[in-house]
Amino acid sequence: MSNQLFGKIAFVGLGLIGSSLALRIKQDGIAGETHGFSRRAETRQRIQELGLVDQVFDDLKACVEDADLVLVCTPVGTYQDLAHQLAPHLKDGAIVSDVGSVKKSVINAFKPTLPSTVHLVPGHPIAGTEHSGPDAGFPELFEDRWCILTPEEVCDQDAVDKVTRLWEACGSMVEIMDADHHDRVLAITSHLPHIIAYTIVGTATGLEESTQEEVIKYSASGFRDFTRIAASDPVMWRDIFLHNREAVLEMLQRYSEDLTALQRAIRHGQGDVLEEHFTRTRAIRRSIIDAKQAGQFSPTEASNENQPDWLSIY
Ligand code: NAP
Repeated sequence: MSNQLFGKIAFVGLGLIGSSLALRIKQDGIAGETHGFSRRAETRQRIQELGLVDQVFDDLKACVEDADLVLVCTPVGTYQDLAHQLAPHLKDGAIVSDVGSVKKSVINAFKPTLPSTVHLVPGHPIAGTEHSGPDAGFPELFEDRWCILTPEEVCDQDAVDKVTRLWEACGSMVEIMDADHHDRVLAITSHLPHIIAYTIVGTATGLEESTQEEVIKYSASGFRDFTRIAASDPVMWRDIFLHNREAVLEMLQRYSEDLTALQRAIRHGQGDVLEEHFTRTRAIRRSIIDAKQAGQFSPTEASNENQPDWLSIY
């Protein structure tokens, strides 16, 4: 039986997420034909060498015209410009979807620009690694991971169903959510942990040289895990914080209040307060393991309970 869900799928951007999707779609015959656009010649050459899509383009129009589904897989800060560049070349009835880590700003960027004959079904796979570019992709990335879709209520249901089936075919479980709600949830589960990791690693680099050497030497005590997330793509994360500003600022405010409370408990020797807090947080870890959302499959890093999964969830 054929697995084909779409005639032609066009990828705009084939970094970690785009290439992982492209590999899975090709492997399982989910599209009749795949196109890929990339702006840099070097990236286009790697896409070709890796055989990620059937045809690689340096021209956006040629890549997307006649596509049944256009999948935007670039940093969210590129969306406004891309929407203007894409809009005139989309065929009637085409679906535009994406994988961006922030969702309300995607709707704001695309909705005013896309023709009314095109269906916008924004998406966000809750899966990833700290690696970037076309070489980082692998087809199992989305296996047993959630993918959140945030179509507006007026969106064509057939289009939503088709994108849902695409993600399910790639191994994901799909949840439909309001875009604002998505952005608040991800602000706490992903964006806040990232800003904390960036801060901790930044603080360590500000220490005097002799201490810095010891930080590296003894990094396995916890610091190492933060350096992994702080190695994530700087442009992608710049765009996430700028495009989810309000929700991130709200979570940062709550976090800093909680941090102050723990600081006070340490200062006043309130061991019972600390113990009660740590017992509660330990239970959260247990529920994540029970929900089978701990650990991350990757060809180089086997799933491991000790590996902090939030470091690789975006
Ligand atoms: P990535 O590996 O850095 O790849 C980004 C791609 O976007 C590159 O192929 C790059 O192509 C292209 N690109 C960058 N700026 C562009 C521009 N101005 N115009 C056209 N193309 C441009 O990034 P990624 O990790 O796949 O992330 C892509 C999207 O997925 C982001 O929106 C991110 O928020 C979201 N996301 C990421 C993860 C994750 O774990 N990384 C997880 C879930 C969702 P060139 O090389 O040709 O510049």
